[in-house]
Amino acid sequence: MALDTVDPIAWARPLFQIDDDAPIYLDGNSLGMLPRRSLERVTEVVTEEWGRRLVRSWGSWVDLPTDVGDLLATHLLGAAPGQTVVSDATTVNLYKLASAALDARPGRSVVVSDRANFPTDRYLLQGLAQARGMELRLVDFPDLGGPDPSLLRPHLGTETALVSLSHVDYRSGALADMGAINELIHASGALSLWDLCHSVGAVPIELDRTETDLAAGCTYKYLNGGPGSPAFLYVRQELQRSLRQPIWGWFGQADQFAMGQGYNPLPSIARFQTGSPSIVGIALVEAGTGLLAEIGIEAIRAKSLELTSFLIDLYDSWLAPLGLELATPRDPARRGSQVCLRHPDAYRICRVLVSEAAVIADFRAPDRLRFGCAAPTTRFVDVYDAMLRLRKVVQGGQYMSIDPEPEQVT
Ligand SMILES: *Cc1c(COP(=O)(O)O)cnc(C)c1O
Repeated sequence: MALDTVDPIAWARPLFQIDDDAPIYLDGNSLGMLPRRSLERVTEVVTEEWGRRLVRSWGSWVDLPTDVGDLLATHLLGAAPGQTVVSDATTVNLYKLASAALDARPGRSVVVSDRANFPTDRYLLQGLAQARGMELRLVDFPDLGGPDPSLLRPHLGTETALVSLSHVDYRSGALADMGAINELIHASGALSLWDLCHSVGAVPIELDRTETDLAAGCTYKYLNGGPGSPAFLYVRQELQRSLRQPIWGWFGQADQFAMGQGYNPLPSIARFQTGSPSIVGIALVEAGTGLLAEIGIEAIRAKSLELTSFLIDLYDSWLAPLGLELATPRDPARRGSQVCLRHPDAYRICRVLVSEAAVIADFRAPDRLRFGCAAPTTRFVDVYDAMLRLRKVVQGGQYMSIDPEPEQVT
């Protein structure tokens, strides 16, 4: 396809393991593809660093969480070094940061989030609020727009301790205005906590410039770190010493190997670690992040917007007439790297797309199909063919014979 021949980052796709007869993969926003270099790296870590050098490798492993945090920060988060560490799962990191933030705002009793926020975010905030007798206020934003500053403003005040939002909405793909929202949050005296799962590696992020307080995100989506790869967290430099996370583990302890009495956390970002880091996982995060750093986030964003615009153009021509509804902002500046389409039979259509049309997308309850356009691995021809096949599936109506009851993992 002509658009692919002029794609300036087309050279990146062969760096991933993709079989010639592989299905079209538009789910890199759920689980990113395998970079070939990750296979080499993991083999080295397992056979050499672990297999041969054994415990002696801890001398170099111990700095890996902060070194890879810095790699991520400087290339993808718009953050100076010393503020990011790779550790634990996103859920655990969000919990640690939210808990630390609430401790740092005594006397304030309200936590604000988005009713449409990712479930784990809402659940962990609910748990924290309940345990502390605080109110979790879930704001209703319009379906397409994501968190809108003017709609958020009335919910912020002297009672607000923390505002926790997603940078890119996991369903609609709406991209929030982080700078404007942080300004509002700070005007109320609260702290901001951003979930970057659907933006990191897909959208340029400027944590320092937007004066973000706290952030966390996963590494297995656009960063291609592999299933369950460890997450990262960011804490603005000035806040680090005043924040204390709730899991007082030995990897956050100053002078860890003194094995002393009493918890006395490190003064640095490393204090937000808990226990032994997953070294194999972090090595994979390093490989995936390094590859994206070489491609460059600006080039990734440029192609991603062309891909999603192309998909929306095809939707307008082929799918809108069939009754599918676009559930992603049309304004490129307001969307991440995925396009969401709604249809009452989205679940069954998604099943047929995967099993009979060789298009891997995903379904999000109750009625949404998500098409992720991870720029390093997605070609324009993939988007074209996928939409062509989607049209055929919807027109053909075979999906009507599928059991409408969703399976456990969708
Ligand atoms: C994928 C995702 C998560 C996942 O959290 P884990 O702890 O890694 O399972 C959290 N938040 C958002 C917005 C996500 O998209």
